[in-house]
Amino acid sequence: MKKLIEKAKSEHNLNQEELLALLKSNDCNEQLFQAADDVRRQFVGDEVHLRALIEFSNICKNNCCYCGLRRDNKNIERYRIDEETIFQLAEHAVRNMGLKTIVLQSGEDMFFTTDKLCRIIRRIKTLDTALTLSIGEKSLEEYEAYRQAGADRFLLRIETTDRRLYEELDPGMSWKKRAECLKNIGLSGLETGSGCLVGLPGQTVESYADDILFFKQIKADMIGIGPFIPHKDTPLKDAAGGTLTMALKVMALTRLLLPDINIPATTAMETLEADGQVKALQAGANVIMPNVTLTQYRKHYELYPGKSATNYTPDESLCKVKEKIAAIGRSVGQGYGSHRH
Ligand code: SAM
Ligand code: SF4
Repeated sequence: MKKLIEKAKSEHNLNQEELLALLKSNDCNEQLFQAADDVRRQFVGDEVHLRALIEFSNICKNNCCYCGLRRDNKNIERYRIDEETIFQLAEHAVRNMGLKTIVLQSGEDMFFTTDKLCRIIRRIKTLDTALTLSIGEKSLEEYEAYRQAGADRFLLRIETTDRRLYEELDPGMSWKKRAECLKNIGLSGLETGSGCLVGLPGQTVESYADDILFFKQIKADMIGIGPFIPHKDTPLKDAAGGTLTMALKVMALTRLLLPDINIPATTAMETLEADGQVKALQAGANVIMPNVTLTQYRKHYELYPGKSATNYTPDESLCKVKEKIAAIGRSVGQGYGSHRH
């Protein structure tokens, strides 16, 4: 096991069988996390890049069985933040909070047409900031339009590379189409962000190994790994959910195989354990996405329970994140934190 970790650390390559051996065994988890931490320091340094997350609409036409925003969930108050307020949130994050990337995330809400989105992108880009979108499956022309309007990056998790499971849990959606979208994001000139869930019912270690190899194959610029947390108003309400340990292992192996990409310590990791994000920062992660959405909206963007449970304002949350980063001897990124090839 130790030899495999050393190999991954020096060659940044493992085959499916080698990945499986490391995923199955818990004997060397600490060594695995340490190796991912070393590779992170060597390739992307000690800076932690902060991205301001704005959840601008919780309306979604899709029905993903794991997600609290799914179309059939009637126990949720739906909202859309208007263009002016989205801009003001972004302006506050950049000018007053000093954040260098804005992430606009939403359900697949058809109200936000390409024209509307491009207008918002152009306006936000008048601020000194990088801009990431996480708004679901679009056409190549739409990704190109966002790029031309000034967007820099796009996040679209593949969720799982197990096609059968994906299509079972994302009714009406096609795995091939999602993979095609990831290809088109790259073609449009946007940085490609993807990732997966860990702990969906039916997911196996074999499929996590495939996920990691898929991230390498698509030459991802960013990868977010989130433990699945069951939501009471979804068909998966009684599922066991993912563990922090397995999510950290998938993340650490992703760092070893894609040494120079951006990897967030995800909010879902923090939701599972109070120091989940710090553990992630010490096992390969180099990004945190503080939420700057106003609490009045944020409480309705509940993908999973506990996600929105905070009484802190965006400014207070940012202070807490900065304290955590300083406490482990790391520093806040000063630049835009784009993928350094
Ligand atoms: N609608 C867009 C999409 O699906 O790409 C972007 C927003 S979506 C809410 C962002 C991510 O939330 C999804 O890619 C999914 O991995 C994650 N997510 C949804 N439900 C979750 C749950 N119950 N536990 C953990 N993560 C979840
Ligand atoms: Fe909609 Fe994204 Fe949730 Fe699926 S994961 S229901 S696409 S918001």
